Amino acid sequence: MTDGGLFAPERVAVVGATERDGSVGRAVTANLLADFDGEVVPVNPNRETVLGEPCVAAVGDSGADLAIVAIPPEPAVEAVRAAGEAGITNLVVLTAGFGETGSEGATREQRLREIAAEYDLTLVGPNSLGIASTPVGLNATFGPSMPDPGGISFMSQSGAFVTAVIDWAFEQDIGFRYVVSLGNKAVVDETDLVADWGDDDGTDVIVGYLESVEDGEAFVETAREVTKETPVVAVKSGRTEAGAGAAASHTGAIAGNERAYEVGFREAGVLRAESTGELFDAARALSGQPLPKTDGVAVVTNAGGPGVMATDAIGDAESLSLADLSDETVDRLAEVLPAEANRFNPVDVIGDADVDRFRDALEVTLADDGVGAAVVLSAPTATLSFDELATAITEVQADAELPVAACLMGGERADESSGVLSAAGIPTYFDPSRAVGSLDTLARYREIRERPTPEPERFDVDRERVHEVLSRVRDRSDNRLGVESMEILDAYGVPTPDGEIVDSPADAATVAAGIDGPVVMKIVSPDIVHKSDIGGVAVGIADDEVRDTYERLVTRARNYQPDATVLGVQVQASIDLDAGVETIVGVNRDPQFGPLVVFGLGGIFVETLEDTAASLAPVDERAAREMTEEIQAAPLLRGARGREPTDLDAVVETIQRLSQLADDFPAILELDVNPLVATPEGVQAVDLRLTVDPEQLGEAPTTTDTPVEATDGGESQ
Ligand code: ADP
Ligand code: MG
Repeated sequence: MTDGGLFAPERVAVVGATERDGSVGRAVTANLLADFDGEVVPVNPNRETVLGEPCVAAVGDSGADLAIVAIPPEPAVEAVRAAGEAGITNLVVLTAGFGETGSEGATREQRLREIAAEYDLTLVGPNSLGIASTPVGLNATFGPSMPDPGGISFMSQSGAFVTAVIDWAFEQDIGFRYVVSLGNKAVVDETDLVADWGDDDGTDVIVGYLESVEDGEAFVETAREVTKETPVVAVKSGRTEAGAGAAASHTGAIAGNERAYEVGFREAGVLRAESTGELFDAARALSGQPLPKTDGVAVVTNAGGPGVMATDAIGDAESLSLADLSDETVDRLAEVLPAEANRFNPVDVIGDADVDRFRDALEVTLADDGVGAAVVLSAPTATLSFDELATAITEVQADAELPVAACLMGGERADESSGVLSAAGIPTYFDPSRAVGSLDTLARYREIRERPTPEPERFDVDRERVHEVLSRVRDRSDNRLGVESMEILDAYGVPTPDGEIVDSPADAATVAAGIDGPVVMKIVSPDIVHKSDIGGVAVGIADDEVRDTYERLVTRARNYQPDATVLGVQVQASIDLDAGVETIVGVNRDPQFGPLVVFGLGGIFVETLEDTAASLAPVDERAAREMTEEIQAAPLLRGARGREPTDLDAVVETIQRLSQLADDFPAILELDVNPLVATPEGVQAVDLRLTVDPEQLGEAPTTTDTPVEATDGGESQ
């Protein structure tokens, strides 16, 4: 798209070009005529010329390599087909009245998609405000102005936001390379643009305002590669349920599950901004500054209070720390600062500092190996010119090749010198926390670049057996499976306690007799989702109580729901909960991002406590381990208060194995192993619940997997 085509066309046709005041056709034609390096061809069968340019009657006669479509919906679809037939493969459809307007529009959009597929079209929109490409002076939007050139490539799912941002960017000295109003994303979506702009040398940062992601799995896969080279920052709106509802009616997008977006963006390496202010703070820092060499930040200030504010902000930052200055640096600072100054970080050059003192202090601190970035804070004083300070900061920054953020605090006086700083790509703010935030963005991006590529392991498993068990759902009235399906866990190498499902008190007694110690007994019924809620779980049952307990559990189930299908009672070996921690490993299949694996504190209070970490499947060992470290209850797993630590390796492996299960079987919509009891000796899955979509089951796998990397353990006991 960036090499020729959409963003570098030579000849642009405007279907629907007109001189009618206030029309989209006029606005876009005028915008194109204003700056475009190439030729503009109005398409209008009823006119000789539009705005002085000779018209052609049909898009097929235009000889264009990009067509902008601004006519009503039905003719727009036909114009797209005509363009395709004439070999024009790049299109921007401004016309509204497609998927965002209901079922008739959705059908029309589907036709557009089919035509695009037939002619292999690169089509932006429909319902787009247009695109801009500053390298060739292309303003194919019907917004009021052409953006200034720069290194930011910006896509937005809201057209209104595009015009607002372009307008606001002028006064912020923010320039753009490409701008795309995505519209309904019938063909070109965020993943296509991330891939395309990731290959473009002139794009320093990719910025997105998104309400939804079309294909989350493709997005993660693509962005994961791109973000190793080019930073991607995005706001994802529609975070709250009310917001998601508004987004859905807005561009016809169905917002996916918020947790999945959070995890998906994180795994894609996309820096997520919470507000548009944050979005462009991040974009500006990433487009103008080098990356820090370590996470340590030096603070250089002429005022105590702002120094403390900056120090607090560093403490709150995700990826920064207050640098510990070396003895050598402290000695060198002593040489350039008066005796009353603070030579330790935050370095206080004190109120009477002139520009040279600031410059020396900044130079010396940035030379310290433990300093990866610096923030310079200054209140206005009589001994200092902000202009000179701004120039000094840019010079020291350029020599040091490390990121510097500035905070020249004040009103008009600060505004004037901010031009010097922003011309050098140095972010400057009134607020110390925003200056520090811009450095944090750089540090977070450095971490993204340096993180290893995930390497999910493939365990040797028995897929055929799982397929067979899942298929039993076809005989059910609903699509849930419970503990009667626990052999799925055996098949995927997740340990389960000894046990069996029986359908008579006598059989229950026989099974219990074969198990050491007291047993646990559970009602097995597809109609009872939470067994303990109805008293359907009995723990610590001695051999001579087994028959009575069987009767009692069945009676309870009948009382709870007289027509409940009771499959029997599970008799299971007891796991010593005193030595263990009840955890949960769950999977939720997100419509956009696929299986989301969740780990957390488990047991019957899981919903109440909500202490979980999540990752997209397949989860590799590193990510699984991070999940076990991330939850608040992590100290319990490591053995708090003198308790023996649990076997974390076994927990990590179980998360990986269950993530593989979800990845292997798209039919599994939801899965809960709760609890997975983690003990010092390993893990035991004592409960299982699944939701299965029988339509996704497909054919039985014919072979079991050959392990790519053999692992042992995980034997069921
Ligand atoms: P449900 O979640 O449907 O109520 P579970 O099988 O998870 O049923 O059992 C509920 C609780 O009973 C578990 O969280 C755990 O505390 C305890 N429990 C269940 N099975 C065992 C077992 N085999 N050994 C020890 N405790 C168990
Ligand atoms: Mg349970």
